[in-house]
Amino acid sequence: MPKIDGLRLLDDLKTLRAYGASGNGVVRTSLTGIDVESRAWLLDRMQQAGLKAEIDGIGNVIGRSPNPGPALLMGSHTDTQPEGGWLDGAMGVIYGLEVARALSEDPDTADLAVDVASWMDEEGTFGICMGSRSFLGQVSDDEIARAKDVNGRGMAESLAAAGYAGRARNRLDPKRNPGYLEAHIEQGGLLENSGKRIGVVTAIVGIRTFRLTFEGAQNHAGTTPMPIRKDAGMALIRLAYRIDETFEAIKGERTVWTMGRIALHPGSHSIVPGFADMFLQFRDPDDARMDRFEMAFRALVEEANAAGPVAISVEPKGEKITPTPMDDSLQAHIAAAAEQDAPGDWIHMPSGAGHDAMIIGDEIPVSMLFVPSIDGISHDFAEDTAEDDIVLGCQVCADAVARIVRGWKGKG
Ligand SMILES: [Zn+2]
Repeated sequence: MPKIDGLRLLDDLKTLRAYGASGNGVVRTSLTGIDVESRAWLLDRMQQAGLKAEIDGIGNVIGRSPNPGPALLMGSHTDTQPEGGWLDGAMGVIYGLEVARALSEDPDTADLAVDVASWMDEEGTFGICMGSRSFLGQVSDDEIARAKDVNGRGMAESLAAAGYAGRARNRLDPKRNPGYLEAHIEQGGLLENSGKRIGVVTAIVGIRTFRLTFEGAQNHAGTTPMPIRKDAGMALIRLAYRIDETFEAIKGERTVWTMGRIALHPGSHSIVPGFADMFLQFRDPDDARMDRFEMAFRALVEEANAAGPVAISVEPKGEKITPTPMDDSLQAHIAAAAEQDAPGDWIHMPSGAGHDAMIIGDEIPVSMLFVPSIDGISHDFAEDTAEDDIVLGCQVCADAVARIVRGWKGKG
């Protein structure tokens, strides 16, 4: 049984936090000077752990076990949001490092291989999951040449300044890495509220977002009699209420929906709104249920349009993201490890947020493990997790990896 070193794990996490620390949180945006410095530190730590490590042409830091494969690939990201937490991403990467060390230190597991990666730019400074998509061959040189952050800083120039430009970009070899494990903080309150310490992720939820627009007629709020109004605002409010009611009736255990923006135009107390619009988004681990949600709200829109007098139209906003199921066999090994290290203290649950695992899942079986976030807070300097939970999550990963890789080698 591999035994992780909790103090070493926490020390590494705290050292990594020092790169860009701001109170308890971190500012370590992709390819800034501090991010590049932290990658050099990570490279060094991987080499000290006996991994064959390198930083590739897009800034992915990858450390490979010197053992022959098959190797479980563990990874996450070390870039942060403009005001980020210290564990979002960083924890999954340092878990990989600690699991590699723990396996190599135990004679029973020293022959098992784990490869570790920090994927560039999961937080989307330059684009969507640039590092993991590059690792799957989904990013062209042209996309990198065009990619800019909100301030106009170019990704290509930043890679050149970091000294990464011109290096080859690493590419996934599914024979070497037949599976992927990403550990992450939950970034929500489900574990804490249910008093559990480990989440075995079943799927990363799908996301559909729509913009609904309402065309009525703008008019005087005092002189326009109610029966002849075409009030776009009231039409929006009535429809929004019916959507909420209907979704409540057909929801699954983990469905969430949000009307994150509502605007009435021109937005004055003495004007009947002539135009209104709103965003509607819903997420669920089950694509068939997502279809039912879409059909249900579109039917309500049709009904409202037939009744008039306001014309409602629906357009999809952004890309439709289909749910990514986690591999059953990998999940079973993680669940067995969780039951061994934290009997009764774990649950199956979906991930409501996107992760690099979503990308890697295009080519190989993927899995995820969650630890609780205190008060469910993330993408904020206040983000935190109890140290005992951080240590426990890593031990579960080490035991899960040992089970998985042994199984692949036919020893399980
Ligand atoms: Zn993250």
